[in-house]
Amino acid sequence: MSDCLFCAIAAGEIPADVVYETETTMAFRDVNPQAPTHILVIPRTHQENVAEVVQAGNASAGELMATVTAVAKAAGLDTHGYRIVSNTGASAGQSVFHCHIHVLGGRTMQWPPG
Ligand code: 5GP
Ligand code: ZN
Repeated sequence: MSDCLFCAIAAGEIPADVVYETETTMAFRDVNPQAPTHILVIPRTHQENVAEVVQAGNASAGELMATVTAVAKAAGLDTHGYRIVSNTGASAGQSVFHCHIHVLGGRTMQWPPG
């Protein structure tokens, strides 16, 4: 089994509530949701953060963003709005070091997030 949690989810080794999939990306519900809808979008291949996705070119940043917008629409978030967040580095709050875009919606959100 992969020692990367999200690689293991992408490989089906750890179960997840998958809501959307493409050849290069995957979307599943966050286990500890911070909003009524909280979905994580990942590239299937291991890259640590958005910058690495851009450099690697396997699942391009464009494909990742296409999945983000498709997921938001499928979840019905596009009418009332939603927030996307991707933490890079522990001091930014990153705890899983496989790139993921948080898609959050279903409630009013404050800005700045702190
Ligand atoms: P980060 O803190 O790296 O920006 O976000 C990691 C996210 O992964 C957190 O919101 C956390 O709740 C979520 N997470 C951690 N472990 C699991 C898991 O096993 N399954 C799912 N679906 N989400 C997880
Ligand atoms: Zn990984």
